[in-house]
Amino acid sequence: MVKKKKVNDQTVFLCEICGLGYSNKETAKQCEQWCRKTGTCSIEITKKAVYIPTPFTKE
Ligand SMILES: [Zn+2]
Repeated sequence: MVKKKKVNDQTVFLCEICGLGYSNKETAKQCEQWCRKTGTCSIEITKKAVYIPTPFTKE
């Protein structure tokens, strides 16, 4: 399920799996489907992210 979050007065839609935020729900959904299916993030999708959670630097 895509989650909504307010960041700097902007609503972003979060991929529940990787936690990246997008300005539109469709992209967040795409990311979530991709993450679920492949277990990784698609660069094509993540480059559209407008919000990156801070503990993103995990190996
Ligand atoms: Zn994702």
